[in-house]
Amino acid sequence: MLNVNENYLKLKGSYLFSEIAKRVARYKESHPEANLVRLGIGDVTRPLTSSIIESLHASIEEMAREDTFKGYAPDLGYSFLREKIAKSVYARLGCKIHADEIFVSDGAKSDLGNLSEIFSEQCKVAITDPVYPVYVDSNVMAGRAGKFNEEIAQWDNLTYLPCTEDNNFVPQLPKDDIDIIYICSPNNPTGTALKLDELQTIVNYAIAHHSLIIFDAAYEAYISDKGIPHSIYECKDARACAIEVRSFSKNAGFTGLRLGYTVIPKELTDASGNSIHAVWARRHSTKYNGAPYLVQRAGETVLSSRGQDEVRNLVSYYMENAKVIRDGLQKCGYTVYGGKNAPYIWLKVPHGQTSWDFFDTLLVNAQVVGTPGLGFGPSGEGYLRLTAFSTHNNTQEALRRISVM
Ligand code: PLP
Repeated sequence: MLNVNENYLKLKGSYLFSEIAKRVARYKESHPEANLVRLGIGDVTRPLTSSIIESLHASIEEMAREDTFKGYAPDLGYSFLREKIAKSVYARLGCKIHADEIFVSDGAKSDLGNLSEIFSEQCKVAITDPVYPVYVDSNVMAGRAGKFNEEIAQWDNLTYLPCTEDNNFVPQLPKDDIDIIYICSPNNPTGTALKLDELQTIVNYAIAHHSLIIFDAAYEAYISDKGIPHSIYECKDARACAIEVRSFSKNAGFTGLRLGYTVIPKELTDASGNSIHAVWARRHSTKYNGAPYLVQRAGETVLSSRGQDEVRNLVSYYMENAKVIRDGLQKCGYTVYGGKNAPYIWLKVPHGQTSWDFFDTLLVNAQVVGTPGLGFGPSGEGYLRLTAFSTHNNTQEALRRISVM
């Protein structure tokens, strides 16, 4: 009898951003004249930089010649890129990560979703709340969630670690044993970047409880303060308990090109001593045929010194927007968080409104699209996320409209 996996059927409604797109499309239908400013989805707006464009052209030339043509990429990634990451990213941070512990992929989203597949259905999972929705949804798909409890907007069997104003958006660790903990720093959506001692506390917990940390560093390029780690491997003992997932999307603007990677230290094992590195390598080589040659070459270029200068320019462009949003909202009397070591501003919605109410208020009164905090988890209720990824003009226009709302 043909049946789809019933875990997938538990996920009612659409993924957060499809739901927002639907609501915005409905509004546009009834207000075709509306000139919307979108500060909702975390997609970049700056074009690719000149070194990347040159790299792509050069790779295409190679593809056009018989002697340099490339077919299938090695499924774990080209060694030129894995070695460049080991040296330019990790050695520079003082972290011991070997090239063969780096698995190249088409982006962090697929790695984060796919990782949930290689662990047993019985694993107990803790997820900071609010956070990038992929962690929860992929664990529901992997069968680790019970029923969705509408009253508290939480899945049974998943452990939520609330990050709110009361704890400065830093998760408090669970008392019971947890097998897998998801941490995202700088955080999407709160914009909180964990300090070294805060992250070390989580690593110490993981070592003491034999848990695995899945650390999402997609926004590390936005860290400017000293004392905030760019990688979990800056923490002592992290090699023994952590996987790190990274992306070229938000630093170099590869959201359309697609490139990311996952680091799995060789000593990571499950409770029976099985190598997580080996299981992931087996999965990756069976189900994945490698990111395109030209994109991997472009990724290598991002890590060159010219590429890194360009990344710094992109980051400062977006961080100027973050400042405009933060300052503008504060001037209007709103309480805001984030926007300092992260491209997200976490706005506390005015008293008495839900995050979806405030999403509608902004849409109708300012024609500005944000993202309702509840979409990132129950502790996101009462907040709205604005992104710094728009253009300067649009960001300024959004703030002008909000100020007269
Ligand atoms: N991780 C976080 C926290 C994100 O916010 C996003 C995208 O918004 C991703 C991962 C996805 O990155 P990629 O474009 O590499 O799939």
